[in-house]
Amino acid sequence: MTDCVFCKIVAGEIPATKVTEDETTLAFMDIGHVNPGHVLVALKAHVENVYGLEDGQADAVFRAVARVARAIQAAFTPEGLSVYQANGKAAGQTVFHFHVHLVPRHDDDGMALRWPVKNPPREVLEDYAARIRAAF
Ligand code: AMP
Ligand code: ZN
Repeated sequence: MTDCVFCKIVAGEIPATKVTEDETTLAFMDIGHVNPGHVLVALKAHVENVYGLEDGQADAVFRAVARVARAIQAAFTPEGLSVYQANGKAAGQTVFHFHVHLVPRHDDDGMALRWPVKNPPREVLEDYAARIRAAF
C-alpha cells in the first residue's frame, strides 16, 4: 500500500532498524521506544488488522513473536514482557498495518493498561460465548 509507513519499511523505502525477518514477517525496533528492547513484529504483506490474517500468516507471526521474545529475554533479561497488539482506533491502533509489540517490562516502568474487571455472572458469560461460537 503506497501510503503505509510499514509497507515503506518492508520495501526499504524508509529507514528502520531491523532485527530479523523471514518470508512472511519483519521484526524491527519501535521508533517510539517504551522500554529498551521494544520490538515490532509486522507482517510483510499489507494486512490492516487481525481480522484479515490468513492462517499461514497468523502461524508465521506468532512463530516470529515467540522467537523474538526469547531473544529479547536473553539480551535484556527484563522482569517481564508484554505482547500487545491493537486492532482499530478504539483499541489504540495508530499504524493500520498488522503488527505485534514486544515490550520488555520492569517493575514500576510506568506502562499501564487499565483493566476494568466486571465479573459478570456465569449465565452472561455463557451467552457471550454462544454469540461468538455462532459467528465462526
Ligand atoms: P500501534 O499504536 O499499535 O498501531 O503502534 C504503532 C507503533 O509504530 C508505535 O509504537 C510507533 O512508535 C511505531 N512506529 C511508527 N512509525 C515507525 C517507524 N517509521 N519506525 C519504527 N516504528 C514506528
Ligand atoms: Zn502496509
